[in-house]
Amino acid sequence: MALSVLDLFSVGIGPSSSHTVGPMRAAKLFADGLKGDGQLSSTVRVQSELFGSLGATGRGHGSDKAVVLGLQGLEPETVNTFTADDQVAAAALDAELHIGGTHRVDFNWDEDVLLHRRKSLPAHPNGMTFRALDHTGAVLRERSYYSIGGGFVVDGDAEGADRVVADDTVLPYPFSTADELLEICRREDMSISDVMLANELTWRTEAELRAKLLDLWSVMRECVQNGCTAEGILPGGLNVTRRAPALFRTLTASAATAEAAAGTPSLVQVPADPLLAMEWVNLFALAVNEENAAGGRIVTAPTNGAAGIVPAVLHYYVKFVPGADDDGVVRFLLAAAAVGILFKTNASISGAEVGCQGEVGSACSMAAAGLCEVLGGTPGQVENAAEVGIEHNLGLTCDPVGGLVQIPCIERNAIASVKAINAARLALHGDGSHKVSLDKAIKTMRDTGADMKTKYKETSRGGLAVNVIEC
Ligand code: SF4
Repeated sequence: MALSVLDLFSVGIGPSSSHTVGPMRAAKLFADGLKGDGQLSSTVRVQSELFGSLGATGRGHGSDKAVVLGLQGLEPETVNTFTADDQVAAAALDAELHIGGTHRVDFNWDEDVLLHRRKSLPAHPNGMTFRALDHTGAVLRERSYYSIGGGFVVDGDAEGADRVVADDTVLPYPFSTADELLEICRREDMSISDVMLANELTWRTEAELRAKLLDLWSVMRECVQNGCTAEGILPGGLNVTRRAPALFRTLTASAATAEAAAGTPSLVQVPADPLLAMEWVNLFALAVNEENAAGGRIVTAPTNGAAGIVPAVLHYYVKFVPGADDDGVVRFLLAAAAVGILFKTNASISGAEVGCQGEVGSACSMAAAGLCEVLGGTPGQVENAAEVGIEHNLGLTCDPVGGLVQIPCIERNAIASVKAINAARLALHGDGSHKVSLDKAIKTMRDTGADMKTKYKETSRGGLAVNVIEC
C-alpha cells in the first residue's frame, strides 16, 4: 500500500476531517454508486444513519450537514464554504434533496438523517450506513462506510476494507517504519524529503507535484489571512469568541512601533520581545483553527482538528527563518508527510480511534520533522524531532466540549505548534542519537489509544466535555 504527500494534505472544509470531510465523501460515493449502477431514477428517498463517534458528536461537527451536501454531489475540495449552510437549510426547508446534484427526492430532516449516540458499526468508531428506497419502500441499495481519519473513507462492504484505502503502486523507496526510512537515507545518501520526492515521482512529475504543494501552501496562507480578519463568535452555541483578529492587530501594531523606534535613534528603544515569534505562531494556529471551527476552507493536515499546526510552523519558517523560500516549503511538506505516513500506517490519525494524541500529536510530530528538515537537520535529527513531537503528546485525550472542534482544539493547536518548533530545535542540538525511537513512540501511541476509554475518544462523554458547562 502506497501513500502520497497529497493523501496527507488535501483541501477540505471545516470543522472535522473524520466527521465532516469523510462523511461528505462517503455520501457522495453512495450517490455516485446509485448513478453508476442505474438506480438513481428509481430512487424516491435516501436515508443516512451515523454511528459511534459520528452519532455522538456529529451535530457539533456538522456531519449531518456534510452528508446532505455529499448526497447532492458536493465535494469538500470544491464546495462553496460561504453558501454550504444555506444549501443545507434550503434542503431542510424545501423538504427535498437533489441526489448527485440532479435527481430530486423527498427529504425529511428528522427521519432521513439519523444520529445514533450509543450504537456503533463493527469495524471502526466512525461508521455510516446509506440506504436508497424505491416507491414501494423496498431497499434498492444499502452501503456502509467508515471515516477512518484525515478524510479517508473506506467502503465497509468492500472486500478487505480495513485501515487504509489500497493503492498498490510500487514505489522506488518503500518504507513502513522510521528505521526503514533512515536506512534508505543512509544507504542512498538522501534526505527524508529526497526519499519522499523520489517516491512521489511515481505518480506525477516534479513540476506537477511542486505546483500542487505550493497550491496547498497558498490555501494555508489564505486560511490564515481569513482567520486574522474574521471577527465574531464561532458557530455552535458555545459562544467562543474568535481571538485571532485581535491578536493580529496587537502584533502588527507592536511590529510597527518597533520599526518606528528602530528607525528613529533618538527615541527610547523598545526592547524586542524575545518571545514575539511565539506569539505569531500562536496567531497562525488560532487563525486556521478558528476558520476550521467556522466551517471554512482549510488544508487537512493531516486532520481538520489539528489543521493549524503544520501551517503555523510553515508560517514561522517563512516569516522568521532567513533564506526561507518555496523550495523549503516543498521540502518541509514532503518531510512532514513522510512522518504522517508512519503514523497512518502503524497507528492512527483519528481522534475517535486513539484520542487527540493521534490528531494533534501526529501533526506536532510532522511539523517538527518538516521544520527540522528545512533548518538543515540530518535524517537522524529529523527523526529525533518527530519523536520528540509525539512523545510529549502521548496520552492526550479527545474531549471536545459540546462536540465542537473549539475547546480544547483551537488553543491546543497553538500550544502544539510551539512545541513542534521546540522539538525541531532540541533535535538540532543533538546528533540524531536518542533513547526512544520514533517507531517505539508511534507504537506507544497506538497501544495507549487502544487502552484509552471510549469516553476520551471523540464522544464528548468524558474529560473537558463533561466538566465544562456549555453556555
Ligand atoms: S480534542 Fe483533538 S482529536 Fe478531539 S476534536 Fe479536538 S483536535 Fe480533534
